[in-house]
Amino acid sequence: MAIWNRAIETLPRDRLRALQGERLRAAIAHAHERVPFYRRRLAAAGVAPGDIRGLDDLGRLPFTTKADLRDHYPFGLFAVPRAEVVRIHASSGTRGKLTVVGYTTGDLAVWGEVVARAISLAGGGPGDIIHNAYGYGLFTGGLGLQLGAEALGATVVPMSGGNTPRQAMLIRDFGARVLCCTPSYALTIAEEFERQGIDPRDLPLAYGIFGAEPWSDALRAEIERRLGLVATDIYGLSEVIGPGVANECIEAKDGLHIAEDHFYPEVVDPDTGAPLPPGAWGELVFTSLTKEAFPNIRYRTGDITTLLEEPCACGRTSRRMARLRGRHDDMLIVRGVNVYPSEVEAVLLALEEIAPFYQIVLARDGALDTLEVQAEVTEEFRAACRAADGGLDPDEPRVRALRARIGDQLRSRLGLGATVTLLAPNTLTRIEVGKAVRVVDKRSSV
Ligand SMILES: [Zn+2]
Repeated sequence: MAIWNRAIETLPRDRLRALQGERLRAAIAHAHERVPFYRRRLAAAGVAPGDIRGLDDLGRLPFTTKADLRDHYPFGLFAVPRAEVVRIHASSGTRGKLTVVGYTTGDLAVWGEVVARAISLAGGGPGDIIHNAYGYGLFTGGLGLQLGAEALGATVVPMSGGNTPRQAMLIRDFGARVLCCTPSYALTIAEEFERQGIDPRDLPLAYGIFGAEPWSDALRAEIERRLGLVATDIYGLSEVIGPGVANECIEAKDGLHIAEDHFYPEVVDPDTGAPLPPGAWGELVFTSLTKEAFPNIRYRTGDITTLLEEPCACGRTSRRMARLRGRHDDMLIVRGVNVYPSEVEAVLLALEEIAPFYQIVLARDGALDTLEVQAEVTEEFRAACRAADGGLDPDEPRVRALRARIGDQLRSRLGLGATVTLLAPNTLTRIEVGKAVRVVDKRSSV
C-alpha cells in the first residue's frame, strides 16, 4: 500500500527525533509568547522557554488539562488574533461547558495532511470514493475526514449520520470503496444491508475507518465479516486537532501510527503524572509541535494506552499507540473494582450466540452497586430456542446455560459478578447519529 508522505513517514528515528526537538523549541516559544496562560504556567514551574532545549526537557513542563480548557472558554487559549482563526470546533463535554478549539489556515493544512496519511494507512487512496458518515458540525469527525479525503485527492460523500436506509443506498449506488463512521454505526449499516438483502461483499466497499468510540478486536472481526472490508481504528481528539492523530496500518493492524512529527506523545502514570517507560500502560499526553491557533503543552487526553516502538511491517518509522482500552473517564468503578466497558464487549463478542449489541446498566441496591449486562442473542440462537412469539424465554434451558456461561466469564475477566440479561434480536435501540450508548449509569439518580 502507498505511504502518503513517504519522506516523513519513513524518516529514520534519529532524524525524526531531531526534527521533533527543533519543532518543540519553536512550539514552546510560540505558546509562551502568545498565550498568557502558558506564560503563567511556565513561570510557576520555574521554566523559561530557553530552558527547553529538546525532547529530554519536556518533563520539566507542566501539564495542561481539560479543566484548563474549560476555564478559558471560549477563546482564552488561542495563540493568534481571533481574525486569523478560520475554523472553530468544540467537543461536547458530558458535564458543563464545551471545550472550544480553533484553527488557522496553516492548521487546517496540517490536519488535512495527517488525515490523508490516516486514510492511506487504512487502505484508501486518490480517486477512491469515500463515504463519510461521521457527524458534521462542531464535532471534528465529519469535517476532519472530509479535509483529509480532499487532501488525498479522493471523492468524498459528506453523508453525516442518520437515515441509514439512504446511507446503504448511496454506498451501493455511488460505489464507495471506503466507509468512515463509528464502529457501532458500521454495524447498524451492516444490518441495513442485510435487511435490504444486499451482500456488501458484492460491492466495491473494501476499507473501513472506524473511531470515536473504544472498540474491541472481537467487534472488528464482526464488522469485517458482515461488511466484507478491512477495518482499522482511527484516533484523534479535537483538543489535539481532531481525527488523524493516529491510525492503524492495514499491513499490521498492530497499534496506531502516530503523526508524531506534529503531535509528540508521552505516556504517564494517570495518578502521579510520572512519565512511564516504553511498554507501560498509562495516560496518553500530547504536545503539539506545529499548531498555530491552539497549541497544547503536555495535554492530558485521559486515554489509557501504551507506546509501541518496535519497527512495523509497513515500513513506517513512527511510534504506535496500542488500541485504547477506553478513556480514563469511561472507566467505571463498580463496588470498588475498575471496569472498562471494552472488557465486557470482549467477553460478549467472543461468543457466537451473542450479537454485537449490548448495554451495561449500573444501578444501586441499597448501598451496593449493581452491574447488569444486557446483550442481544443472534437470530440463529433465538430460532434454536424455539420461542413462541419471536421473543426469548428466560427459563429455556439453552438461555439459562448461556446466561450462566457469560456470568462466569465476566466474573473471571472483571473480578466482579454481574447480572446477565439476554434479549431477543433488535431489542436495543440502534444509534443513527453520534456515539453508541453502551453504559447507562442510574446510580446518581437513585
Ligand atoms: Zn505499520
